[in-house]
Amino acid sequence: MNSTFINAINKDRKRTRSNIIKQVLKIIPSGRLILDILKSKVDIFLAMSKKKKTLENANARLKQTVEELKKANQKIVKQQKTLIEEERIKILLQMAGAKAHELAQPLMALQYGIELMEMDQESPDKMAYHIAFVKEAGDRISEVVRTIQTIRHDETSQHLDETSIVNIDQKMTILSLEDSDDDFEMLNAVLSDHKQISLSHSRSIEDALQVLKQNHFDLILLDYLLPDGNGLDFLRSIEKEGSEIPAVVITGQGDEMIAKQVIQAGAYDYLPKDRIGEKSLLRVIINTLEKARLKREIKNAQKKIAMMSIRDEITGLYNRRYFNEVVEKEVSRAMRYETDLVLCMIDLDYFKKINDTYGHLAGDMTLSEIAGMLKKCVRQSDLCCRYGGEEFTVIMTNTDTKGAEKVSERFREMVAHRLFQYNSSTFHCTVSVGIAAYQPELKQSSTELVEAADNALYQAKAQGRNRVVTIEALSGATDFLRVHKF
Ligand code: GH3
Ligand code: MG
Ligand code: MG
Ligand code: MG
Repeated sequence: MNSTFINAINKDRKRTRSNIIKQVLKIIPSGRLILDILKSKVDIFLAMSKKKKTLENANARLKQTVEELKKANQKIVKQQKTLIEEERIKILLQMAGAKAHELAQPLMALQYGIELMEMDQESPDKMAYHIAFVKEAGDRISEVVRTIQTIRHDETSQHLDETSIVNIDQKMTILSLEDSDDDFEMLNAVLSDHKQISLSHSRSIEDALQVLKQNHFDLILLDYLLPDGNGLDFLRSIEKEGSEIPAVVITGQGDEMIAKQVIQAGAYDYLPKDRIGEKSLLRVIINTLEKARLKREIKNAQKKIAMMSIRDEITGLYNRRYFNEVVEKEVSRAMRYETDLVLCMIDLDYFKKINDTYGHLAGDMTLSEIAGMLKKCVRQSDLCCRYGGEEFTVIMTNTDTKGAEKVSERFREMVAHRLFQYNSSTFHCTVSVGIAAYQPELKQSSTELVEAADNALYQAKAQGRNRVVTIEALSGATDFLRVHKF
């Protein structure tokens, strides 16, 4: 019957639509029904084709949006690269300034040593002393140069790595802390075309904290109102745990106050629910990840600066890290060349009382003033360090205990006579000093030498403070103590 029907249509192709219908109705009594079905099928087909066209248009628009997004991302990446460069240059300049400052002292010592050598050309004894002095200054210069070389190497290689900049196509894991399943589904749908993003779901703060303990996430999308608290509570909890995962707060309440509060509490950004779309959400995610990356990078650079710095900020003396390096080197040198080496350990007496009575700033000022006095008392070739809170050390090369005692006694006396002044308060402060000489016959380690000086200092404290005590034998052998009282 089908072929008869088609033949009839072919035959009457040129006739009008109603004629065709009449003809068809003559041939097939149920033709009206078939025509209706056909008509509805054509309508469906037309509707589908219309829908397809709309979808194609939407797809083209989406493609364009993604392209725009990629371009915007590239622009952000470019801007951020400039920012990183600027930050890097700033850090390098700071380092350069600090290193120039560190070079100044040994350079002066070097020039001074050369002058002395010119003056004492005729005296071999003095020449040997000056050579050692110049050599020591040269060693200190090469030490600083070594740290400068490390800066260059580390800093440049770290920042020139292109892949470290956040890219829209890179894999990322996101945790959505959202109590409403509908809202989570909305986020999921918005991000569904981005297979590189893996989105997990927690419905409560408690659950999220648990999940965060077991899994790594690059970012948290945080709903503000939650069953067991709010976004601020969550941010405080993760801060307490020391987490550095960036969080973006998403909330139904487009409240400026909430935005301000959550940003102050450590959130990276804020996005009202009614403004969430693919473009806005991706932009916030990418910007946040990049901000977090920059923050980590700056933190690392600052850590590096602190590590590389060999000076203490308050007193300007060398710090403990540098002291440890130098004392070890000097001990092996004294052992190898059998030269004299003395370590002085200084502790301020009842310093806590100064802080408690006049305030911490008065304490800081006292520390810095005493450090200045110490530098004035010792030779240029002696190395003064801030060992700890209110403790200093002096490494004296080519010096015997007699020489060290003379210097220490002069320093102790100078401090004891100084009237310190902070705002309208005036007060006194004294120091105790422990001295230990390196014992070549015992093949002491640097740790043992420090222990010996510490032991001498302990004796000075025990005997009443404001005094210099020398220990000349093994640490702990009190028989060999020599005490200088005020
Ligand atoms: P002692 O004679 O036994 O050494 O008594 P002390 O009070 O000096 O010693 P203690 O160890 O009890 O206290 C040391 C104090 O030094 C406590 C600490 O607050 C203070 N201190 C450490 N570092 C600094 C600092 O950088 N600035 C200030 N202002 N105080 C510091
Ligand atoms: Mg909620
Ligand atoms: Mg003290
Ligand atoms: Mg102390």
